[in-house]
Amino acid sequence: MMSLTRRCLLGQAASLAAALAAGARAGKTAWAAPGQLRVVVAGAHPDDPETGCGGTIARLSDLGHEIVILYLTRGERGIKGKSFDEAGRIRTAEAQRACEILKARPAFAGQVNGKVEVNYARYDEYLKMLQGERPDVVFTHWPIDTHEDHRATSLLVYDAWLRMERKFALYYFEVMTGMQTSQFLPTHYVDITATEARKRAACFAHASQNPEEFYAVHDQMNRCRGMEIRAKYAEAFVHHAQSLEIELPG
Ligand SMILES: [Zn+2]
Repeated sequence: MMSLTRRCLLGQAASLAAALAAGARAGKTAWAAPGQLRVVVAGAHPDDPETGCGGTIARLSDLGHEIVILYLTRGERGIKGKSFDEAGRIRTAEAQRACEILKARPAFAGQVNGKVEVNYARYDEYLKMLQGERPDVVFTHWPIDTHEDHRATSLLVYDAWLRMERKFALYYFEVMTGMQTSQFLPTHYVDITATEARKRAACFAHASQNPEEFYAVHDQMNRCRGMEIRAKYAEAFVHHAQSLEIELPG
């Protein structure tokens, strides 16, 4: 288990590409100067990236990195009494508001909540989208999760990572741990004490999802992960050991 808190991002004379290549060869951390990274946070539904790593997204966007939040669906099944179309419109607007708060660009992968597919055509479709974003690092769902859409997103990202010759750093985040994510043993932490308020605001932008209830769980998680690194609030990640490693903010 390794904490990267208090490490700082240092500019390097070498280009990021060279650093990444060196990291790939040596299996070591690739250092990135502020503003150099293209970051994709891949979630299943509006609110997943925000809850899983909203504090880290805010820290990375503060450093000038380019953040794309890629939602697999628009959460069409997620509002009781609303049609899929209506719920999708409401939740798209909520996601756009959350992204404004976190200074990220929203993108939607076009699948439908409740009808998510994982097959060869969907693997190809998702690969093309990720290739289009040219990410240096991707954060996505941990695959052992009670929600079928979370598992699907994780598999789609993993397949793209393999087919893109493992060229981006791959980190997994946790959501509703104990209720959804399980068997999650962190390898990395990010201190989100300074950005927890923005994470909270981004989560509360999802007003249709009863944020008081779901954020209470994540508040406990943020505090628990914080205790593990002696911070007030933290988010935890599992780094894919065969992927590049990006220096996360301390
Ligand atoms: Zn979800």
